[in-house]
Amino acid sequence: MTVPGLPIRDDLRGLEPYGAPQLDVPYALNTNENPYPPSERLVKALGEAVMDVAGTLNRYPDRDASALREDLAAFLNADTPGVGLTGRRVWAANGSNEIIQQILQVFGGPGRTAVGFEPSYSMHPIITRVSGTRWVDAFRDEDFGIDPGRAVEAVRGHRPDVVFLTSPNNPTGTALPLEAIEAVLEAAPGMVVVDEAYAEFRRGGTPSALTLLDRYPRLIVTRTMSKAFAMAGTRLGYLAASPAVIDALLLVRLPYHLSAVTQAVARTALAHGEELLGGVEALRGERDAVVAWLRGRGLAVADSDANFVLFGTFPDRRRVWEGLLARGVLIREVGPPEWLRVSVGTPEEMAAFRTALEEVLREAPRESL
Ligand SMILES: *Cc1c(COP(=O)(O)O)cnc(C)c1O
Repeated sequence: MTVPGLPIRDDLRGLEPYGAPQLDVPYALNTNENPYPPSERLVKALGEAVMDVAGTLNRYPDRDASALREDLAAFLNADTPGVGLTGRRVWAANGSNEIIQQILQVFGGPGRTAVGFEPSYSMHPIITRVSGTRWVDAFRDEDFGIDPGRAVEAVRGHRPDVVFLTSPNNPTGTALPLEAIEAVLEAAPGMVVVDEAYAEFRRGGTPSALTLLDRYPRLIVTRTMSKAFAMAGTRLGYLAASPAVIDALLLVRLPYHLSAVTQAVARTALAHGEELLGGVEALRGERDAVVAWLRGRGLAVADSDANFVLFGTFPDRRRVWEGLLARGVLIREVGPPEWLRVSVGTPEEMAAFRTALEEVLREAPRESL
């Protein structure tokens, strides 16, 4: 809501705030969270970690979050063997959204341009515009992949200061082969950000862009603890890049941006990584099952390397979305006009989704949906 009398920036007028509905429903399958809450044991450990820092909250936290960054580097080294990262090449902030904002504050800004390949994550253009950077849409192929030749053409044409590549992509679930990422890196005059928010869900044999870091000093790979790591409430995102990129980010970060509580909670979560990531295998299985089930119903489904599935096509997708919501199942109306996205939840949640969708499809013939 904009107040007409307020002297807000001209370039913010008419923008809509980010707004995935937060409705109180029995089955919330709309924001790609991990449905498994921390165990009682982990809840206790998190509580103790907060207790430990509580007595020092009169002091500012470690401004550089050094210990946390070392832990994150160790996690990445285990996730993608051979990358040999250190805390010096990792940076952390309040969610990967803040990471992206800091990247744009350093490498974007008035007079500069960022490019992304649509359909993709809606926050990339929003954060870009708010940073005063011009946003330019490039496009994915019919199958939601990115053709290296066309991507290079887009990059050569727009000469962007920042390129966003999301892999696996949200909302389509599509992972990119390294060749496409490398082609963009070779052609891009500026920074290339590979948003790997869903990397831990990728299918076997799908590589991470982390393996390219040593060869491309203008590559930034972003990750988050919000999805596979089941810590969306903690607000912890991070990136891996060359030390020069980290030094540049220090110019724009607010002092003490990561609270002592956040740092302690994130470190405790990382120490219990095995438990937190324990649900990933089950979620992958549940994802592959729902893809097969939807295809069995004659629906179009995008291949997914993430914890959500994009399916369609419905001439009136709003009716399907509403029909599901009326049955207590909240999914996301996002992506290309005739498609819908469902996050992968527990077996019980997915059963509720399947039952509700069958009813909606039975009630109204496909052509009218
Ligand atoms: C969910 C998501 C994020 C995560 O944002 P956080 O601020 O870390 O919670 C980042 N990128 C993409 C593509 C996402 O879907």
